[in-house]
Amino acid sequence: MRHFATFLMFLSAIAAFAQPHVVAHRGYWRTEGSAQNSIASLRKAAEAGCWGSEFDVWLTADGVPVVFHDGTLEGIRIEDTTYATLMNHCLKNGEFIPTLQQYLQEALRLPDIRLIFEIKPHRNAKRDAAISELSVELVNMLGLASRTDYISFSKHVCKRLHELDPDAKIAYLSGDLSPQEIKDMGLTGIDYNTGVFDKHPDWPMEAKKLGLEVNVWTVDGEEALTRFAKMPGIDIITTNDPATLIKINKELDGK
Ligand code: MG
Repeated sequence: MRHFATFLMFLSAIAAFAQPHVVAHRGYWRTEGSAQNSIASLRKAAEAGCWGSEFDVWLTADGVPVVFHDGTLEGIRIEDTTYATLMNHCLKNGEFIPTLQQYLQEALRLPDIRLIFEIKPHRNAKRDAAISELSVELVNMLGLASRTDYISFSKHVCKRLHELDPDAKIAYLSGDLSPQEIKDMGLTGIDYNTGVFDKHPDWPMEAKKLGLEVNVWTVDGEEALTRFAKMPGIDIITTNDPATLIKINKELDGK
């Protein structure tokens, strides 16, 4: 009987160890008064108790880093327009498109949430470098480096970020590099689509053995969230449905 109790404790320890961190994809936007990549979505992710909140960053033609997902807005390419022109548009909750500085200043008021900072692949290596440099400068200037995880689909961006701040946490998104290749580039994590882990089920544990962090995107719905929450080697789940994942984590934790 005592052995059985020990066994149960062992199982619950594994379960506790396996709880993935919850990252709100583009902030917590599927809730009243919010919108993707809005300042409200960052605040609401923090209020919901998310571990981190993800957001996307572009550089405008006149050199202003802005928080927005798509490369275009009503036919206008973000990289080809000025910030003043973007001010003619509002997000679905009525906010203006935030500048990176405005967004990060809100983050200063929310000390418990991590920033999952995605830099979009820009038109060329020069612009990839420019947005990487501005991002690191601003994050460091505001004292947010220890709370920031950079992510990008662009190898240029990941490499430049690593050169700029060798201590920064940087994960690659595209899914075409093995954990060993990521380690060799000096990056700290993989942040891959669910399909990549379905194709390479050994990569999460392979990454863990190399000391890399493992994030999976974008996992939605109770069934998929539960499957990835139980998957060995997954550290972080990025979801549009953070409240459901928080609930699943509590159930798996036996609370
Ligand atoms: Mg993103």
